[in-house]
Amino acid sequence: MHRAAHERLQGWVERLASLLEGTRLVAGTLELDEMAVRVEQMTAQVVLHDRGILLARKSDGSLAPLRFWGGTPDPAATLSLAETIRANLRPLLLDDVTKSRFTPLVAGQRSLVGVPLLVESDCLGVLILTASEPGAFSREDQDLLFLIGFLSAVAYSNVRHHQDLKEAQSQLLQTSKLAAVGQLAAGVAHELNTPLAAIRLAAEGAQLKADRPDIVVKRLDKLRAATDQAQKIVSNLLIYCQGREAPTHQSADLNEVLDDTLSLLRYQLNQDRVELAVEKTELPAVQGNPSQLQQVVINLLINARDAVSGPGARSRRVRVRTWRGSSEVFLSVEDDGPGVPAEVVPHLFEPFFTTKPVGKGTGLGLSVSHQIVARHAGRLEYSDAGPGARFVVCLPIVSAG
Ligand code: ADP
Repeated sequence: MHRAAHERLQGWVERLASLLEGTRLVAGTLELDEMAVRVEQMTAQVVLHDRGILLARKSDGSLAPLRFWGGTPDPAATLSLAETIRANLRPLLLDDVTKSRFTPLVAGQRSLVGVPLLVESDCLGVLILTASEPGAFSREDQDLLFLIGFLSAVAYSNVRHHQDLKEAQSQLLQTSKLAAVGQLAAGVAHELNTPLAAIRLAAEGAQLKADRPDIVVKRLDKLRAATDQAQKIVSNLLIYCQGREAPTHQSADLNEVLDDTLSLLRYQLNQDRVELAVEKTELPAVQGNPSQLQQVVINLLINARDAVSGPGARSRRVRVRTWRGSSEVFLSVEDDGPGVPAEVVPHLFEPFFTTKPVGKGTGLGLSVSHQIVARHAGRLEYSDAGPGARFVVCLPIVSAG
């Protein structure tokens, strides 16, 4: 008798140890499907059975099978039994289903034990086990399964909270993205209004003076300038949007990017009497999108041109340099303009921030450039260069192999 009690106790200890190990596993995941698999594994370790079914409460309150094992149960019979357990908030033990008011969940499965998945008195689901032998489950099995039900309920509730959190997070992200797009759209609309008004004015002026070709030519000139301005805004905006995408992975040489940019700009810079000095050092390749990088160099050069052409410039000199460090390559654009006033520096890279006259600046150049360089895992930095301004692009070198 003493020995029987000892063995029984030993059995309990072993099952409780399995339960403990199972709990650790079930609690260790926040993925719903994985959690269901682990509940099945834990149950198999603790209560001998043939088939099982785990039902969970959906967001609309109804119960639905999350996982079943050993065979496909009859949906209607399963639901009616599960609803009974849910309503009573208590375990149900049937030695022989055929002798009860319930229908067997799977043909030939005679005994059954089912428990609610309770968190306090909230039922989050139901776990049911069946076996072909009548009277296969004991009170002990029922009690242990009841415990498994509690543990599964906590795990399921964690999974659900995690899902809710993820959902809320992605909604928040979506909202802030929408807000950013809205801001951008408002800015673009505002910016485009100026050249569009100028285009309209010039076109009307030309119409009115149709008999004066000299005036018409002047108006058409204005119209062209305003169209250029509108085009600049739109193309910057496109780059801004493309800049959000990861750059295409392509090997690029910053010196080549510079040469290509200068071939586009040299004429214009000459016309504006900019004295350009270029100093290149041989560079290793970087990873990126050459046309986006070109856009960065264009923006920096145009800004430098504007700076040396405006008031407060010491000379019309602009210096472009490339060099390499141990893990990065650098390109700097330095000008002899008036530099950036201290109160402007914090706003340099903000979209639509400009100190240039209406119709001249879009305030997108530096923010677009900053974004492009960041997408290339690099940095765009401003520093004081005496009174003038100095912008440096730093990009990581592609490691060999
Ligand atoms: P935009 O040139 O259209 O104004 P940017 O984003 O390129 O737009 O530049 C924003 C502002 O930064 C400029 O309006 C100007 O005030 C300042 N800035 C940029 N580059 C220079 C520079 N080289 N020297 C002085 N100020 C500069």
